[in-house]
Amino acid sequence: MTDIHAQLAKAVGDTNLFAGDAIEDRYRTDLSGILRAEPGFVVRPRTVQEVAAILRAANAEGIAVTTQGGRTGTVKGAVPDKGAIVLSLERMSAIEELDPLSMTITVEAGATLQAVHEAAEAAGFLLPLDLGSRGSATVGGVISTNAGGLRAVRWGVARDMVLGLEAVLADGRIVTGLKKTLKDNAGYDWKHLMIGSEGTLGVVTRATLRLRPIPRTTMTALIATDGFDKVVALLRDLDIDLGGQLSSFEVMWQDFYQMITEANRAKRAPPMPASYPFYVLIEAMGGDPVGDPARFEAALAAAIERGQASDVVIAQSGRERDALWAVREDLMEPMRKLWPMFAFDVSVALGDMAATAERAITAIRGEYPNALILTYGHAGDGNLHFVVGVGDGSPAAEHRVDLAVYSAVAQAGGSISAEHGVGLTKRDYLGFSRTPDEIALMRILKAALDPGNILNPGKILPPSSSLQ
Ligand SMILES: Cc1cc2nc3c(=O)[nH]c(=O)nc-3n(C[C@H](O)[C@H](O)[C@H](O)COP(=O)(O)OP(=O)(O)OC[C@H]3O[C@@H](n4cnc5c(N)ncnc54)[C@H](O)[C@@H]3O)c2cc1C
Repeated sequence: MTDIHAQLAKAVGDTNLFAGDAIEDRYRTDLSGILRAEPGFVVRPRTVQEVAAILRAANAEGIAVTTQGGRTGTVKGAVPDKGAIVLSLERMSAIEELDPLSMTITVEAGATLQAVHEAAEAAGFLLPLDLGSRGSATVGGVISTNAGGLRAVRWGVARDMVLGLEAVLADGRIVTGLKKTLKDNAGYDWKHLMIGSEGTLGVVTRATLRLRPIPRTTMTALIATDGFDKVVALLRDLDIDLGGQLSSFEVMWQDFYQMITEANRAKRAPPMPASYPFYVLIEAMGGDPVGDPARFEAALAAAIERGQASDVVIAQSGRERDALWAVREDLMEPMRKLWPMFAFDVSVALGDMAATAERAITAIRGEYPNALILTYGHAGDGNLHFVVGVGDGSPAAEHRVDLAVYSAVAQAGGSISAEHGVGLTKRDYLGFSRTPDEIALMRILKAALDPGNILNPGKILPPSSSLQ
């Protein structure tokens, strides 16, 4: 038994330490499924003290540590290097405290988003952070990627909901700041360094999240419209007409709507014809069961009157609501059939969204005239997805498509990552959304918090010898 093996066994016990053939395949990759590295060890701690002991040992021996939550990311952020320690938080999943007066919930980082939703809802509260991967994505993972999701237009992203955090630093120090207050201006707000840092600055072990009272009403509708200028106007006008109740605003280009509704036709009939250029799925949540539905219908009627909406379907039941959401969310099976595909989660200002999409699509078609391109996104927070199939899954083809998309994003001053983070897949393109000075500052922070470079090394930041 090597020194590190013995130290890890001492930290978590033999039953939660795996090496060699005992390592299950799921620990070798994330949702990209592509890179199947050979980690040295998998450890599954149960307590923050065990996490601290693991990091102390790894730091002393100079061994890389990749933290894993639900492995729902696609940028290889949770994929370990050869020989690295995989630190899985799956056993740290307790819902520790729901404080109904402060409207907060404190949970361990390995709890799934869905488990937190269920605990909050049982007590009459809503955790607004919601993603399609809710059943597997963990609180630690959504914090470490600053996830946004389906309701960001109203309640913001993970960063806006984390009131307090506990994290373990590279040298094993446990830093606990599980505050329940919205405001804390006592010095540097260090938790924001951890949020979105993809396991490169520390291991998130616990979080206190802000809850909202559960809304009494939920109204959902699918809107067809004939121009992106109308999508932009719809967002502005619905936000006003619905008096702040607009909580989701998902836009789908015609190609996406047509492909998904056709592929799922055997499961459910398309809610409206696929003949419109754009579709918007909206949801509003409020507190007045009598007034809210009437206000919702009036807002949509006004949108039709203004020419912003060409067709509207309003869900009349929970079942119809699920069917409308399925148009946007029931994607995995249809898309799997289109493999190999390259997926993008970029962001640009709403005003630049149509032009950026057009520019990216034109550039891709310049290289691959027959490319299949599906476009959709959380328009409310500037998030845009492209899924691109060019019939060639080679790294060279991926690079060509990457350049087409990221050049268009850079031209609009947008971001190469609005969801999954940078990980390994996007790190060579970091300079498309960050200035050299920003990247230099990131390197300073990384060196200060992880001088031995053991925390997810090689993720986010391109090697320092690179031009960026
Ligand atoms: C169907 C689907 C829909 C999605 N929709 C959205 C969406 O709408 N919006 C959005 O933003 N994202 C979305 N995502 C992306 C996604 O689910 C996230 O990236 C998620 O936040 C990652 O959580 P995870 O637990 O799976 O983390 P993992 O994939 O396991 O890890 C992600 C990164 O975080 C690090 N990490 C994980 N846990 C910790 C921890 N405790 N401490 C430190 N570092 C850690 C890992 O090392 C890795 O770098 C979607 C994904 C899928 C599959």
